[in-house]
Amino acid sequence: MITGTCLCGGVQFGVTAFSSAIFKCHCSKCRKAFGGASSAAALVGKDDFRWLRGSEGVREFQYESGFLRRFCPDCGAIVPQFLAGHQVYWIPVGLLDSEPGIRLKHHIHVDSKADWEILDADTRRLGAGFGSP
Ligand SMILES: [Zn+2]
Ligand SMILES: [Zn+2]
Repeated sequence: MITGTCLCGGVQFGVTAFSSAIFKCHCSKCRKAFGGASSAAALVGKDDFRWLRGSEGVREFQYESGFLRRFCPDCGAIVPQFLAGHQVYWIPVGLLDSEPGIRLKHHIHVDSKADWEILDADTRRLGAGFGSP
């Protein structure tokens, strides 16, 4: 099992298998939430995910569009969230504590990326909706 922890260590989870490659989302809401060019995440099936500690204290922010982010109440790190519509967990891969065995493969919402971000010409781009929370 691969574990993931937030910045302060108060929230911890475990993953036994990933059901997607890593994807970066370049939408404006991920930019705001992560304070960077994009978010990097992967999907995990319901049965391959478990909370190990701190899940009861996790807080959430819901944007008026319905866009949701859950985060650690102590350090503010964005933590996994369950996507009920797809029955999978969305996992911010920066939280993982060891090699996940998957690689960055897709870029989504590239049409709304920041003008200052330069993507390689050969970057694989997918349209809106793929794995996006
Ligand atoms: Zn924390
Ligand atoms: Zn996004």
